[in-house]
Amino acid sequence: MEIKKKDIRALTKEQLREFFEKNGDKAFRGNQVYEWLWQKGAHKFEDMTNVSKETRQMLENNFVINHIKVDQMQRSSDGTIKNAVRLHDDLIVESVLIPTKTRTTACVSSQVGCSLDCKFCATARLKRMRNLNPDEIYDQVVAIDNESRLYHNRPLSNIVFMGMGEPLMNYNNVIKAIDKITSPEGLGMSPKRIVVSTSGVPKMIKKMADDDVKFKLAVSLHSAIDEVRTSIMPFNATFPLNDLREALQYWYAKTKNRITYEYVVWDGINDKRKDVDALVEFCKFAPSKVNIIEYNPIDDGEFQQAQSKAIDMYVEVLESNHITVTVRRSRGKDIDAACGQLANKS
Ligand code: SF4
Repeated sequence: MEIKKKDIRALTKEQLREFFEKNGDKAFRGNQVYEWLWQKGAHKFEDMTNVSKETRQMLENNFVINHIKVDQMQRSSDGTIKNAVRLHDDLIVESVLIPTKTRTTACVSSQVGCSLDCKFCATARLKRMRNLNPDEIYDQVVAIDNESRLYHNRPLSNIVFMGMGEPLMNYNNVIKAIDKITSPEGLGMSPKRIVVSTSGVPKMIKKMADDDVKFKLAVSLHSAIDEVRTSIMPFNATFPLNDLREALQYWYAKTKNRITYEYVVWDGINDKRKDVDALVEFCKFAPSKVNIIEYNPIDDGEFQQAQSKAIDMYVEVLESNHITVTVRRSRGKDIDAACGQLANKS
């Protein structure tokens, strides 16, 4: 019977050190191999040139090195890059590089497909197939960092978990990936440059606050009225706005980090004065700001971006209530890399 080899990148440095000790070698060999895997990005054991041939063979007999592969890279006329990333089991996820004058941001995926069923989202049509492992999340960031250096002559500056999947439904692996991204042995990025964007899982928002995480939180809100939100984000029936509000108040009390609400205004869905008034009330529960994001219709989608006068009304009412608001133009539309479009046509 063939023995299924374990992915060596699922091991911590300590576990690697223990493996070598158990196999009659020095623990520091674990440090060397760890460095090859994470800092030097080795894809094969034979690349580990300061490790003896016998040790490399022993590793080969026990482990595999699973790596993602950028299967297809598309470049938009606005500089945005979308990667279709092939995983070791041939599933595909997508990640995006978004350059602006001052920053380059990676938008990464946390799951293959998604178990939530947001009506406006292309990924929701894929259903959830599996969670991504920490190394698969980390590798997406490394691939985008390399592309940023190659095509924009600067390293990646920010990361948003806004790609495919709900990051808080894969919490442990997302946290492990962020640990690696922020550790000096990984990419050494500041956690303040990382945003985890959730559709709002109250229990997990509280857990993040208890875990004293240092990254930022964004919530895809889209409506502060239960009936409207449930009609476009059906899981809101299970996690209604009251529970979300309570979790966000808990988050703010513990972290003192303000919350960003991501918000799309759709024609005929949430473009009335009552929708803005409800949002203003919701924003009063904890310090927050609102990002109004331009929407990109997905194929046969029933959702259409609201008229600009509706967006203007949102901005005016929010600002007159002293709530910070920005309006974000979408990027990479011509390659289906814009918000809500990942998995569209792929
Ligand atoms: S918007 Fe996010 S949470 Fe909702 S279905 Fe799409 S990927 Fe999942």
